[in-house]
Amino acid sequence: MTEMNENLLKQSVPGVPPLSMKRPARATIYFASMIALLLNAPAVAQTSLEEADLRLLQVAERLQNSNAPLCDRQAPSLGAALQSRDQYPTGSGPVFQADVTFAVLLPGGSAAGAGIVKGDGLLAVDGAAIAKRPDLAEMPLRDSAFAMLADHPKGQALRLTIKHGDETREVLLDTTEQCRALVEVLVEGATTARSDGRVIQVSLGLVQRMSDTQLAVVFAHELAHAVMHHRDRLEAQDVSKGLGGEFGRDRRLNAEAEIEADRLSAHLLANAGYDPYTATEFWRSDLGRSIGGGLLRSRVYSSPAERAAILAREIADYLGGGAPSWPGHLLARR
Ligand SMILES: [Zn+2]
Repeated sequence: MTEMNENLLKQSVPGVPPLSMKRPARATIYFASMIALLLNAPAVAQTSLEEADLRLLQVAERLQNSNAPLCDRQAPSLGAALQSRDQYPTGSGPVFQADVTFAVLLPGGSAAGAGIVKGDGLLAVDGAAIAKRPDLAEMPLRDSAFAMLADHPKGQALRLTIKHGDETREVLLDTTEQCRALVEVLVEGATTARSDGRVIQVSLGLVQRMSDTQLAVVFAHELAHAVMHHRDRLEAQDVSKGLGGEFGRDRRLNAEAEIEADRLSAHLLANAGYDPYTATEFWRSDLGRSIGGGLLRSRVYSSPAERAAILAREIADYLGGGAPSWPGHLLARR
């Protein structure tokens, strides 16, 4: 929920690792814990990390696939999430078969359908070996692998070189396009969700406290930031990433982005087959009010009650025809 602003705050702190680190440094935990203070609700169920990864991927794929026509930045839908060795501090993390591996696979997804299983290594995309790209040099290798996948020409079979144990083989995948975003569960107990325009992270603590439908509400808001190019637009306007973003003109522009994301999220939910009113219900629920309210709420966000009202107005004004919805009035702003 704290997504853009909280994430921007994090990135302005020297020494804090990039957004794609699975394990945050102490300073990251500090900022996230401010949010955790607001939420005393116990976890709904003791979801394991593996279950959380799968639940988030299921919700994300449904929203990313069904909203592909709204997205001018696309990637092939694999039904899988990647991770790389360099996302973990040296000496920790799982045993890797290759520098980049498949961390989660959806049953029925195109990667699983090609026989790829959890833990398999990804060595090459369309014959090109996985390697860091200059524009992503500061980010984990996983991000470069994802960028290579996203660059695959639409409409052609995707050729992946896979390492399974000692065996290396090539597989051909028929994929459809989806909205482009890297998605992952962040291993921390705090209740945060955030995006930086490329990567969307939802904390394990938040996944554990939410139903799949609530997870869809939160993810749709984060995906809306990516669809609207908010990060790029705010950077182009030189909007402060830190505490300065809470005041004056920067506060206004950050707040406008948050309202746009809430409004667009109703359309994204409807297109994915969710009742868009689940978003208004979420902000009126105990969970939504405890996450989005309180004295520590950033000045960038409307109150939970205001967010519910903004969503209800958007649905009444623009979603009368149901899905599929083409929210041209919002997309025209990007
Ligand atoms: Zn947001």
